[in-house]
Amino acid sequence: MSTEAIERRVQASFAQTFRALERRLIALLDELHEQDGLLVSDQFNLARLDKTIRLLRVDLSAAGYDSAIQDQLAGIEEIKDAILAESGKLNLPEEFGAESESMLSMLAQGAEEELLTVADAAAGAVAQALRRAAVGGLKLTDLILSIAATLDIYEGQAKTLVTTTLHSLHSSVRVKHFTDAGVEWFLYAGPDDDVTREWCSHFVGTRVTPAILEEHASEWGREGKTPLRPVTSWRGGWNCRHELIPLLGKGGYREGPGK
Ligand SMILES: [Zn+2]
Repeated sequence: MSTEAIERRVQASFAQTFRALERRLIALLDELHEQDGLLVSDQFNLARLDKTIRLLRVDLSAAGYDSAIQDQLAGIEEIKDAILAESGKLNLPEEFGAESESMLSMLAQGAEEELLTVADAAAGAVAQALRRAAVGGLKLTDLILSIAATLDIYEGQAKTLVTTTLHSLHSSVRVKHFTDAGVEWFLYAGPDDDVTREWCSHFVGTRVTPAILEEHASEWGREGKTPLRPVTSWRGGWNCRHELIPLLGKGGYREGPGK
């Protein structure tokens, strides 16, 4: 399966999760006592809101957040399999080095931790909105809108994390794997258009080695960024659209940088 297909699948699980949580919260708000659109600060309401706030993180899990993370981890495994299949096509050894495996688990663990942080922040922000409503001043309809907007922001964060993680993972695992297998040259492939970063525009369409990229790691718009992001996963910048494709020999491409 391609990285894009895995990405779409994981993004869909996160969208489903956040919609489910929103429905649960709205159903809960429906049961509260209100007067003129404002929450009544009676014991029933306060106890119920308090219980929800305590259960928010659990609610997120129940709504599917944990399984969306599992989905992403499964996607990471699929990327590994896809790379192995690709190496078979190029007649390269199919064995992943122990180092590649450990790098993969390290990156997967990092991705999982970041996604859990997003869940905590989302639960915290919704809890804050509920507390504000409980002390009055916020209409129930506004509270619902505010919760929906908050969840949208965190859903967006989770999705962006998925995109960047899967892409940089695919890129660095692939380069590492093919370098271990003896591949010297990679094609710096992808679009060369108005939004192409300056750094990328120097390499698009040429053959490069990780060492050549490393040599220019702090030039053409990449300077002054500390710590310097790794060239094989970060390339020209965050969410770079370019890819490093392994070549058999020199593949008939001129050596980069080309400009
Ligand atoms: Zn790029």
